[in-house]
Amino acid sequence: MIEEGKIIQIVEANDKSTFDGYLHYNLTGKFLIPGLWDAHVHYAFNDSLRSSMNRLFLAHGITSVRDTGGPMEIVGEVKKYTTANSTTSPNVFFAGPLIDGTPNVYNNSSPAYPLLSIENKSEEEIIHNTAGLIASEVDFLKAYEMLTEKQFKSLTKIAKEHKLKVTGHIPLSMNLFSAVEAGLNGMEHLRNLEMMAASNAEELQEERLALLENKDDLSGGLLRSSIHQKQRIPAIKGEDTERFKRVAKLLQEKQVFQTPTLVLYRNYAIKAFKDSSFLKELNKLPEFVRNEWTSQLALIDTTTDKTYSNWMLNTVKKLKTYDIPFMAGTDTPIGFLIPGRSLHRELELFVMTGFSNLEALQAATINPASFFELDDVLGRVKEGYRADLLILDANPLDNIKKTQKSFALIKNGRFYSKEELNAMLNLK
Ligand SMILES: [Zn+2]
Repeated sequence: MIEEGKIIQIVEANDKSTFDGYLHYNLTGKFLIPGLWDAHVHYAFNDSLRSSMNRLFLAHGITSVRDTGGPMEIVGEVKKYTTANSTTSPNVFFAGPLIDGTPNVYNNSSPAYPLLSIENKSEEEIIHNTAGLIASEVDFLKAYEMLTEKQFKSLTKIAKEHKLKVTGHIPLSMNLFSAVEAGLNGMEHLRNLEMMAASNAEELQEERLALLENKDDLSGGLLRSSIHQKQRIPAIKGEDTERFKRVAKLLQEKQVFQTPTLVLYRNYAIKAFKDSSFLKELNKLPEFVRNEWTSQLALIDTTTDKTYSNWMLNTVKKLKTYDIPFMAGTDTPIGFLIPGRSLHRELELFVMTGFSNLEALQAATINPASFFELDDVLGRVKEGYRADLLILDANPLDNIKKTQKSFALIKNGRFYSKEELNAMLNLK
């Protein structure tokens, strides 16, 4: 039983008298699970898709998202809108812009690098800009790759003082051990973990520090990708088992949340863009987005290397043998990931790496709630919890793909029938 968006009581179905005065839906034979999370999205990445994202998330059973980077002018507005319209939008937890060093990566230099970050040239700027974000009531902070060690450490210090979580990419100037010791609470895309697990990690870090001097005056995006290109695959090939174990043990000890966004890299590796099911979904997107994506897809290099994606799957499989919290996130709409749809693919990939169906569901329900210390509010079907619920035709504990068989959705107490959900999917 639901009142004012909250589950107030769970009663036996045959105890009909309790339903008096309540709207009553017969869901006999259906399966009720908590509304899902996509723990890594970017509302600011694609201007033409933004207004459709709320509908696409709900239509796919996603009732909460973590926006992991965008300018305040955009994501601040999204936060305001979704908070005021809590029955027609997912709950949005936002970081504001990526907090980057100099040159910043997402600096509006091309469509692939829209303005998602703030460039910080000094430690003073970090202190000033972070205080500004905190004053704007962001839900967490996201540290980015071009930060210096000093900048990163003042960022985590301020975050601790304000009890805000920090997630991010391990800065290229740092090693994973010092970033985690300094208070990094989460890692996105396992970023730069491979460089720390390599047998020659110190040597690689020296080389990176030299490259970061940026003698050729490259843009942030180019500088970063040139470093990844130089170090990523050699680091993967030179992985040292003992070093990897040290990394994993530290992530376990400090309970560093991992959001690997497997689907982002897998899609490139298997050229999912050529799948008929993807093309079918693409056809439902607004025409402008569809045309934009189709022309960009034609440019994708057909020789995408699978090494990195395979490394990610394998690494998640190994990290999973430790007690490390995982979250399901996608990076949508980056990488032509359709909002909502891609989360289900991420869950399938979690299962492929050895998660049980239940563990995959937890990565999209109780774990993200736990990241925000909202364990008592979101992510469970329980009295006192927010009524964000997904009703499925079949049991996802039997097969994770069943999360795709929505029968109905309840968002903050508002009931959506299957017909309504289907209508929300079709944006043409
Ligand atoms: Zn991202």
